[in-house]
Amino acid sequence: MRTYSLFLDIDFQNLQFKGRVLIELESERDVVLNSIGLKVLNSKANGKTFHFEQSGENLEIKTGPFKGTLEVEYAGSIPDLLVGIYRAPYDGTYMVTTQFEAAHARRMLPCVDHPDYKAEFKLTLKINKDLDAISNMPIESVKVEDDKKVVSFQKTPRMSTYLLYLGVGKFEEAKERLGNIDVIFATSTGKARKGQFALEAAKRSLEFYQSYFGISYMLPKVHLITIPEFAAGAMENWGAITFREVALEVDENSSFKTRRRVAEVVAHELAHQWFGNLVTMKWWNDLWLNESFATFMGYKVVDAAYPEWRVWQEFLVSEASGAMARDSLKNTHPIEVDIKSPSEIEQIFDEISYGKGACILRMIEAYLGADDFRKGVDNFLTKHKFSNATGTNLWNSLEEVSGKQVEKIMSEWIEKPGYPVVTAMMSGGKLILRQDRFLLSGEYEKDVWPIPVTMNWDDEFNKLLLETEERAIDIKDVKSLKLNVDHTGFYRVYYKGIYDLVWKSELSAFDRWALIFDALAFLIAGKMPFSEYLSLVERYYSEQDYLPAREVSDQLIFLYLIMPSRFAEISREFHRSQLKILEGKTDENSSILRGIMAGRLAMVDEAYAKELGARFHDYEKVEPDMRGAVAVAYARAFSNFEEIVSRYRKSLSDEERARLLDAMASFKETSLVAMSLGLALSGEVKRQDIGSMILSAATNPDARDLAWTWLKVNIGRLLKLYEGTGRLSRILLSVIPILGIGRVEEVERFFEENRIPEAEKGIEAGIEKLKIYDGLVKNT
Ligand SMILES: [Zn+2]
Repeated sequence: MRTYSLFLDIDFQNLQFKGRVLIELESERDVVLNSIGLKVLNSKANGKTFHFEQSGENLEIKTGPFKGTLEVEYAGSIPDLLVGIYRAPYDGTYMVTTQFEAAHARRMLPCVDHPDYKAEFKLTLKINKDLDAISNMPIESVKVEDDKKVVSFQKTPRMSTYLLYLGVGKFEEAKERLGNIDVIFATSTGKARKGQFALEAAKRSLEFYQSYFGISYMLPKVHLITIPEFAAGAMENWGAITFREVALEVDENSSFKTRRRVAEVVAHELAHQWFGNLVTMKWWNDLWLNESFATFMGYKVVDAAYPEWRVWQEFLVSEASGAMARDSLKNTHPIEVDIKSPSEIEQIFDEISYGKGACILRMIEAYLGADDFRKGVDNFLTKHKFSNATGTNLWNSLEEVSGKQVEKIMSEWIEKPGYPVVTAMMSGGKLILRQDRFLLSGEYEKDVWPIPVTMNWDDEFNKLLLETEERAIDIKDVKSLKLNVDHTGFYRVYYKGIYDLVWKSELSAFDRWALIFDALAFLIAGKMPFSEYLSLVERYYSEQDYLPAREVSDQLIFLYLIMPSRFAEISREFHRSQLKILEGKTDENSSILRGIMAGRLAMVDEAYAKELGARFHDYEKVEPDMRGAVAVAYARAFSNFEEIVSRYRKSLSDEERARLLDAMASFKETSLVAMSLGLALSGEVKRQDIGSMILSAATNPDARDLAWTWLKVNIGRLLKLYEGTGRLSRILLSVIPILGIGRVEEVERFFEENRIPEAEKGIEAGIEKLKIYDGLVKNT
């Protein structure tokens, strides 16, 4: 592949387009392009008409062996989807935008829609005179032609089809400069000033990467664009990055939580401009190379730019936790995954490809040292720029630089599903370390990983590579011990009979997090008795740090959800105690935590809900991180549907609307939750937000039966709403384990009778989790 010259004539009012694409290529047999939903009108090869056939997602042109220029004329429409070229509605109008990852470029142009077939793209558009257009590259020229205008963009560098972008509509922009790069915020729905924070974060990120990778950003500009309806959080199209509003826009009503998210998502997407865009995975089995790296680097950058946020704590909550939870199921997959069909690709944008991969990179960085890690990465990027690469290429670069064995260790972590639990025990003056696979079901599975084990004994740091099932270490008269220091390793540690040694060590916030994080998993797997777990929890009532306190809160709320009567009182006590500690603390993490804890206490404490909910009448004066909690408390204590909906209708931002949607799903009265869920499908709620509303209803213990019935009735509509995005798979994985408690057979039967191939992986993992949780409920 060399070049695509694409001309599109867009009929914005009627949501139609005509296209002509000229592709310079070489092929040893008939040319096969990918195309969905496009009506091909004719095809020529080097100027001569050739016969073509369209079947499934293929367009076969009977050229025989061929070298030269292929020309295809076609027509298409702009549908109501969230993939391909689609219409994103807002405020009674819409913009036209694109989302091509993973395999949706073929919905806008016939192309070889495969990440390894890179080419340059030269895009020309014919659009209404009053509209603006954004693509990967800056505009080269604009010419008025009849009653329309022809906008021509500069040619892109060599890149994969999934990174092409086109946006047409009315945009307001704010522009800044960093060296010779234009950094531009673009929005249709808000005010350009809402981009100031993101622009600042983008400049800090770009500066960091240019210096870290030693390679300059490659395009003359980068757009950060708000998309009013968007299935993912953001998408890294080269030079034209798209975001959900909540992942990009910040104003005085935004919470710290939103600011942190914006900084992290902007940093993640900008990391892709190198990792993903400049060097791309050969095929989707190496999706993790893109996502793990962008995730890991995103935190690195935010930590450098905003050290006071201590975002590595958030990394464990948001990435490691989900990854270890998912990977403790049998229904998981290796980081490097066998991918055959496009629907399978969408379902692996998950905790494994993002979170587990990022944790493995954190582990290898800790093993090699930060400097060698960076040099290896730079070496990898320089070697493969404007081209494609695999995981092995990265390991080779890291080995070259560090002189340490990397591939042998990493291939085990990348190619195998699951992860180990290391059991530590003392026997005859020796410390015994034994490993096997950790399964949440409690089943035993013999397996061995090469684990870079770190440990503090008597507060002295040690490391070793545990490559066998068991190893004994001479360690006499040990007074304190802690393994997996700061939880940089992707494994759990079970201290058999020696937890007292652990509590005598100097423990960081990460370590205190890891102890309780592992403990819940051991409780569920039947390794730790309830009494032992509960006495561990007690140690955290007066916890002062964000990370461990947040974890215990997450755990108690989870246990309350599946066993409400048993955990209501403990949950009340813990959250009350924590809110007292947080009183008067003004740092960002404490504000975020206060909002989370207050919302949770409102769910389990009526008196508190009444007191907090009363503030709803003064909503604008409530600090942004507390607003969600106030809205939930108001719903719980005052049951006023109309008041919340009326505020929802007046809201000016997605962030605000999300808080109110959560409140609408939190009523105590199921009839009110039913009205809210009715509203969700009425067209008044953005389709991107319906999924989280379902999750809120599922985690409202009073609405669990209702939410399950509603889901059964509306599953077909949800499938249609999220067609092609993989979103339904993720929603079902989250809600099935909660909604299904007490009705496992019914849930299984329902999904057997209603097969949803697009969400198969989420359903299977969800049911596996459900059975484990249901067992825990029955046995306690
Ligand atoms: Zn990404």
